[in-house]
Amino acid sequence: MSLFFKKLNNAGLWDKIQKLRELIKAEIYFKKRTCWNCDKDLNIYDFLNDNVDFSPEYILKLWQTSILEFHCCECFRYLKIHELKNIEKVVKERKCLFCETPIDIYKFSKFHNYLKIFELRNLWLDTNFQVFCDNLCQRKYYNDLLRFS
Ligand SMILES: [Zn+2]
Ligand SMILES: [Zn+2]
Repeated sequence: MSLFFKKLNNAGLWDKIQKLRELIKAEIYFKKRTCWNCDKDLNIYDFLNDNVDFSPEYILKLWQTSILEFHCCECFRYLKIHELKNIEKVVKERKCLFCETPIDIYKFSKFHNYLKIFELRNLWLDTNFQVFCDNLCQRKYYNDLLRFS
């Protein structure tokens, strides 16, 4: 939740929350949701917060779609770890293109935490995709490229 309140400083998100509130008020039947995995009550504003790039209209539309299943943050994190383990079975480690430090899928997923699991999987398994420890190694690598070309 602390993350939620930090992000509230973001004026754009605040506008989206207000807009979503109005949309919900206008809705005749607002769906109550629980996590399909652990049955915990879900909050649509958390869902908005996790998907800040979506419009409030789209968030509400997803929320109200009965064929979609949602899970809470904890279960999501757990499921993600489970998925990462599967990816790890295919390729266990890669090396930073700059410093050659071995990198595992968990570190990679932290560096690219904005990615969805299937995107992580595709990039991790793509041998042409350049893997780095962090932004620093990435920057140094490109600086060297410029210097030596
Ligand atoms: Zn759950
Ligand atoms: Zn590195």
